Amino acid sequence: MEITLVRGDITAQDVDAVVNAANSSLLGGGGVDGAIHRRGGPAILEECRKLRASHYGGGLPTGQAVATTAGDLPARWVIHTVGPVYSATEDRSAQLASCYRESLRVADELDVRSIAFPAVSAGVYGWPMDDAARIAVGTVRGTMTQVKDARFVLFTPDAHEAFERALAGA
Ligand code: ADP
Repeated sequence: MEITLVRGDITAQDVDAVVNAANSSLLGGGGVDGAIHRRGGPAILEECRKLRASHYGGGLPTGQAVATTAGDLPARWVIHTVGPVYSATEDRSAQLASCYRESLRVADELDVRSIAFPAVSAGVYGWPMDDAARIAVGTVRGTMTQVKDARFVLFTPDAHEAFERALAGA
């Protein structure tokens, strides 16, 4: 698998699957979630509502992942995952790592070859960017998958630099 970094907007990525930093309601939010639903159109929310009415009545648990259509996005699938809210007193890094691992597991089930990840939990959920990047890169690197092209799509120069350091193993 090749891991690359891209500066920009994840909704513009021409990949098989885009990962959404969702919240457990699956019914939309800000940040990446808001952008995906805005650009992807109502088909995504419609499938999310169906998931809430069936398998995920209590919402999608933290660290898990589930796929829907990508609606009008260039991608074929959106893989929704729920990152943990950062805590300074409790180590939730296993849950954050699980987001990446579970997203890749769902991607494999769908025969995805190219995938775009955001910096899960590093926005509204408050995870320090360097640590979020280290967990993201380390987990994707260490997961067995059929995915060939894994991209981290970073919105800000700071995030891009943090992921560069993580990729360099610094
Ligand atoms: P979380 O709630 O998991 O923290 P956010 O969506 O708030 O997720 O933020 C995750 C990261 O994604 C942040 O670094 C944020 O700057 C970035 N981000 C926000 N919008 C986009 C976008 N359209 N494409 C890529 N990254 C984005």
